Amino acid sequence: MSIRVQKTFEALFELEEIRGIFRDALPTGLSDEEEAAFRQKIAGLKAIIADLEAGTGTPDVTKIAGILDIRSREEQFINIQPIQAAGRLTTEARKALISYGDGYSTCDFCRKPFRLDKISRPGIADFHADLAKWLNMDQARVVPGARRGFQAVTNTLVSKGDSVVVSALAHYTEFLAVENAGGVVKEVPLNDKHIVTAEATAQKIEDVRAETGKLPVLVMIDHFDYQYANEHEIAGIGKVAHQYDIPFLYNGAYTVGVQTVDGKMIGADFVVGSGHKSMASVAPSGVLAINEEFAPKTLRTTGMVGDLTKRKFGIKEVEMLGCTLMGGTLLSMMASFPAVKERVLHWDEEVRKSNYFIDTLLRINGSKVLSEYPRKHSLTKVDTTGSFDTVAQNHKRRGFYLSDELTKRGIVGEFAGATRTWKLNTYGLSWDKIHYISDAFAEIAEKYQIPVEKNAKNTCLYQKE
Ligand SMILES: *Cc1c(COP(=O)(O)O)cnc(C)c1O
Repeated sequence: MSIRVQKTFEALFELEEIRGIFRDALPTGLSDEEEAAFRQKIAGLKAIIADLEAGTGTPDVTKIAGILDIRSREEQFINIQPIQAAGRLTTEARKALISYGDGYSTCDFCRKPFRLDKISRPGIADFHADLAKWLNMDQARVVPGARRGFQAVTNTLVSKGDSVVVSALAHYTEFLAVENAGGVVKEVPLNDKHIVTAEATAQKIEDVRAETGKLPVLVMIDHFDYQYANEHEIAGIGKVAHQYDIPFLYNGAYTVGVQTVDGKMIGADFVVGSGHKSMASVAPSGVLAINEEFAPKTLRTTGMVGDLTKRKFGIKEVEMLGCTLMGGTLLSMMASFPAVKERVLHWDEEVRKSNYFIDTLLRINGSKVLSEYPRKHSLTKVDTTGSFDTVAQNHKRRGFYLSDELTKRGIVGEFAGATRTWKLNTYGLSWDKIHYISDAFAEIAEKYQIPVEKNAKNTCLYQKE
């Protein structure tokens, strides 16, 4: 680790220890002993700061609690890991996390009627209203991950044996949410370009009706899937679902928080987003937004009465199990939200950067892109069987030579050892970093005598599988 990054962590840790002294002290102030400990820590901090400034010293702290390594991936490297890119915290979210890291930190000023989304200090109630408005939906709730959003919907709408239409590229959590509710998934096949079309969705609905005698109870489709990050015919699919009067869940795990999502325009009854995947938030976090029609049912409140005590819990929502994100998760979402609202306006730039990098990769002879191309997303599946994998065949490190070469250049997040098909995500990288990683891949290719074209081909190299 660079010594300056190391010393930054040490300084943060030292400050946390100083904070610990305040937490242990009486409200009246520090005791003599605590004052002495405080002065000692301040002296330690100054020494760390001096090292930080000069870039000197040696690592003095390498473990947290004696067991955890310091995670400095985002400080030391350019991380192109497919699922991590848009979940990196903003600086404001990191501040919120250190400030609100204590357990139920959202609950300081929780007042009657005691529900998370009603808390006004900090502005959690307003945040819920803003989220709904931002997605152009009527109600929003924060949930522990997109998967818990799916689950709230399936548990509301799906009964034992009911069919739910999903995509042939659906995420495993969609399968599990349907299974959890006792339903059965029915997958819409892809066309030859790996796209889920409105027409194929309509056909699948017809097939389900013919096969089971009943219509599916829910259509749940990803705008961009997790395998290719291809864009599917989401608005058309919403229309088809409504023609059959089937509720439509828009899975925005790879869109909410990186691009503008307008639930009404899409015709979504539910919009689900992932905080830790695409909203620069601590895991597990996410959002479930609902339209007027389905809000009362999905957000139904408890009717349960204790047989002995006759206790009732009034407005607690059953699917939310009362309250959901009660601490640093929610506060990180809220702290990132202004930046997230701003960054979705620049999605076109992210797509340009993605295409720039992919164009460079395609100039390396034998490389292919398996996702639709030109790219419409920052996540891409590539096939380097014809390029980098040819070297792996004869290299003593096999596929790991590529990870070695990338790590040496400060790039991580590709699937270590994989030189055939793998995924990467360029979301949030500056143009400088995009140029840097593009040059690095070209340089590695040249080092191993893989020819690199001078000019971008810009032809669609989409491969059928
Ligand atoms: C990542 C992902 C999910 C799961 O998101 P969580 O917030 O981790 O639950 C669901 N669907 C798709 C398409 C995804 O890419």
